[in-house]
Amino acid sequence: MEHIGLFGASSYQVGDLQLFRDSADAAVAALLATCPLVRLQPGQAIADARRARLYIVLRGALEVATDTATGMADGTVSKVLPGESVGEQSVLDEESNLSAISAVEETDLLVIEAELVWQLIDASNALARNLLRLLSFRIRAANAQLRRRQKVGEFYRQLSMVDGLTGLYNRAWLNDLLPTMVATAHGANTPLSLIMIDLDHFKRFNDSHGHLAGDQALRAAAQVLSAALRPNDCAVRYGGEEMMVILPDTSDKVAALVAERLCERLRQSVVFADMRCPLPHVTASFGVAPLAPGQDEHALIAAADAALYRAKHAGRNRVST
Ligand code: GH3
Ligand code: MG
Ligand code: MG
Repeated sequence: MEHIGLFGASSYQVGDLQLFRDSADAAVAALLATCPLVRLQPGQAIADARRARLYIVLRGALEVATDTATGMADGTVSKVLPGESVGEQSVLDEESNLSAISAVEETDLLVIEAELVWQLIDASNALARNLLRLLSFRIRAANAQLRRRQKVGEFYRQLSMVDGLTGLYNRAWLNDLLPTMVATAHGANTPLSLIMIDLDHFKRFNDSHGHLAGDQALRAAAQVLSAALRPNDCAVRYGGEEMMVILPDTSDKVAALVAERLCERLRQSVVFADMRCPLPHVTASFGVAPLAPGQDEHALIAAADAALYRAKHAGRNRVST
């Protein structure tokens, strides 16, 4: 930073400074006259930015990257243009400035030390009002940014719970939610059933029609399943071509009926890789298990898996309990 003189000896006017709008009286002018002016070259950062000081851009532009020292930097960079200020918050609360501040182009700054800011506030109600207005604006902007971050975070959280190919919930969702659902069922003494689903001879399907057609068949099967479910039921891609349906508040008898319906729907559905070349039906085997007293989610999954194994051995394309 190069010192280029005092404000009082420069051609800049108090009226040019937004913060001093309506406060250009003699006392303010006299205090400001003693403040130094510094010049930053393009890309140059404010030296000693941690010191509580108010900087007002007279010419050029600053770039402020927020929160770099707290590790919360999210790439938000704001520009400070002639007449605008930066650093007022660190002066008021005496916290060091956590922003990285640098010049976008050759920039002249008015530097007002914290002590002098307080003297100026004592001398001018208009300045105090302007500062309050500015702070209020900064708080609103920070809140809006926080809300944006929360929304983005929630979006990615949701995204991380959904399987990309089928749109069903994924394993991460299952690991997160199934223990809770099991605990809720035990706690409320309500039934809960699980259906484990595995596509039949899917290796053969891939071998005959290609992996891409296999993906499409898998997506179609997932769609058939989720379209046939009730709103409270959850469909999960357990892995590969294995899917799972969780039925809260559902007895094993009803779950078996639901599984029969899913099996039938899948049997009736047609997978079109290409409208000119319809692919053969995909079928699946279904294993149904109710949550037994005292059972945890692992044992429940194992029970549904065992039922699925029985359905495979009994000839596939069917439901076993
Ligand atoms: P079974 O009736 O006994 O279940 O026979 P299967 O061939 O379906 O059983 P296996 O578990 O041996 O093979 C599953 C096949 O599913 C193997 C794998 O290539 C295929 N598969 C798993 N995930 C995907 C996927 O995301 N896309 C495609 N296209 N195929 C997959
Ligand atoms: Mg399998
Ligand atoms: Mg299979």
